[in-house]
Amino acid sequence: MRILLVEDDVMLADAVTRALTQSAHAVDCARTGHEADRALATSDYDLVILDVGLPQIDGFEVLRRLRARRSTVPVLMLTVNDALEDLVTGLDLGADDYLTKPFRLSELEARVRALIRRSHASASSDLIHGRLRLDMAARRLYLDGQPVDLSLRELAVIELLLLREGKVVTKQQIIDHLYGWEDVSSSNSVEVFIHRLRKKLEDSGVPITTVRGMGYLIEKPNGAGGA
Ligand code: CA
Repeated sequence: MRILLVEDDVMLADAVTRALTQSAHAVDCARTGHEADRALATSDYDLVILDVGLPQIDGFEVLRRLRARRSTVPVLMLTVNDALEDLVTGLDLGADDYLTKPFRLSELEARVRALIRRSHASASSDLIHGRLRLDMAARRLYLDGQPVDLSLRELAVIELLLLREGKVVTKQQIIDHLYGWEDVSSSNSVEVFIHRLRKKLEDSGVPITTVRGMGYLIEKPNGAGGA
């Protein structure tokens, strides 16, 4: 998933970025309110982690502008203390959840997973598709209960395809989900990931279909009535 982290505390931002990157998320980091506002106006994200106290314009104003643009991206606010009015302000402005500093990284990661699941209308941390089961919490894919050996980026690609099953995912969407601002990427690398995934999943009965000129697709399982 592609996440925008808005945090002016460099040490905290680095720690959070490291943790989320290890879970195969692509993380862009903004240090000021204006930077965040620009990024949100021009790029698509699956989740925003937004500190309230920021230079220039604060997190509330960034959130206000984001919702004024009718964006429904989930937002996790980071607040400094338990000040009730901060909490209420954030939720009124359209924040989906909040965390009070200091927090544990494991707590943040759990909230991130919950928000991503919720935005894809999935109630559990397991995505089940035929004989495949993706445990989003443990970051593992299982075929008939046996773990499939995947790199983090292969895992991120199959996760995206499974979350959007029945819909075409474009190469650009895959690139956006795999890479942050600082990574170099190419559409060739997407083809490589898809090729490897097909090989690793060739016995699974779950084909990854190429939709010429558009992208890739995992069909909904037969008889499935939707999520
Ligand atoms: Ca701050």
